[in-house]
Amino acid sequence: MAKLSELSASGLREELAALKKKYEALKAQGLKLDLSRGKPDGEQLDLSRPMLDSVNSKSDLIAADGSDCRNYGAPAGIPEARALMAEMLELRPEEVFAGGNSSLNLMHDCLGIAYLHGTPKSKTPWCKLPKVKFLCPSPGYDRHFSVTEHFGVEMITVPMTPQGPDMDVVEELVASDSAIKGMWCIPKYSNPTGITYSDTTVRRLAAMSPAAPDFLIFWDNAYAAHHLHPDSPDKLLGLVAELKKTGKAGMGLMFTSTSKVTFAGAGIAAMGASKENLDYFMKHWGLQTIGFDKLNQLRHARFFSDGYTIERHMRRHAELLRPKFEAVQEVFNRELGGLDIAWWTDPRGGYFISLDTLDGCAKRTLALCAEAGVVMTPAGATFPYGVDPRDRNIRVAPTFATLEEVRAAAELVCLCAKLAGVEKLLGGASEPRAR
Ligand code: PLP
Repeated sequence: MAKLSELSASGLREELAALKKKYEALKAQGLKLDLSRGKPDGEQLDLSRPMLDSVNSKSDLIAADGSDCRNYGAPAGIPEARALMAEMLELRPEEVFAGGNSSLNLMHDCLGIAYLHGTPKSKTPWCKLPKVKFLCPSPGYDRHFSVTEHFGVEMITVPMTPQGPDMDVVEELVASDSAIKGMWCIPKYSNPTGITYSDTTVRRLAAMSPAAPDFLIFWDNAYAAHHLHPDSPDKLLGLVAELKKTGKAGMGLMFTSTSKVTFAGAGIAAMGASKENLDYFMKHWGLQTIGFDKLNQLRHARFFSDGYTIERHMRRHAELLRPKFEAVQEVFNRELGGLDIAWWTDPRGGYFISLDTLDGCAKRTLALCAEAGVVMTPAGATFPYGVDPRDRNIRVAPTFATLEEVRAAAELVCLCAKLAGVEKLLGGASEPRAR
């Protein structure tokens, strides 16, 4: 298909009229679709239903270390849960803390603890400093940005590349400003781009020499096991191993959870870190709670046993999710391919596809979608403070809707992106473009 930018003004006006007609027809259908929810659908959740029977009133409820899962104890998690989460984080069980139900909760807490009490390497709690800043590779995860904003952290947007955050920018900023205390990373099948950090990116991150001695990489490996193509998964270099090589083991905090493996919000969350960091943060968690939900940990550990691994389970998730991701790609390629007004990612895992429109067209595209009955993640949500400086990024979340809904919503998104794009090329919604 011809690039829209190469059409004459009259050609564009004709295109606009045709698109508007199609749009009005689609709008009249009274669609009610939602591609905003990055959560598993019912069929995915059903895959883990048998887990609810893995522990029952007749079960032996004693964990491998002898702790009774009905009682207080095992503050770092029961050994079998630590081993399970270590598998996800590709660490050793003793390097992993298995906690409650939410990794976001752990990340929020780590930041809170650093704010109130500092870290093993901080001389001063972060709240006593005049300014604390975080690097925020964007587009990124809105809830990361909400957490940092909540603590009054100044967020610095760092561009994402297909290899991960732009490391030239990261290295320069981190080395020159001691107020930069941390950085958000979603290293595998990132939210929302779906990209996996390259080996070079991981090595450069591990080799950084931050001006702040207490700089921390918040390594949120939420999609560690979430391959769409399990026979040829993306491979992520282990940050911990690289940090050990550079002698900076304390610079990374690794997080993950089984929220999108078993039950969202009812899984196990885990943190992997150096011994010094684990001991430090666990000391603080030990004041918050006498122990996390060990019965849930046991349920998970027993479900994933006898050869039924997370890897095998995630293959079944992939079978359900792949058709939805493929449907979006098929529609986007057919409707937007070659037009030069939209660009999107084709992730090999994770939960999202990232779509970029022409600059200044994301809000307009999503307003048109909403008017026609399709709800999407709000424009700007993938950037710090909810502001996309180029107003072009749209997060597409195909997991929760049915395949038919995904297809129908993707068609409408394309139509709206085209409408917004042609309006922009014409110099505004109603003004013809001067040639
Ligand atoms: N991290 C990322 C990157 C996510 O996309 C999500 C959920 O969408 C979470 C964390 C939330 O994980 P949890 O349910 O373990 O808090």
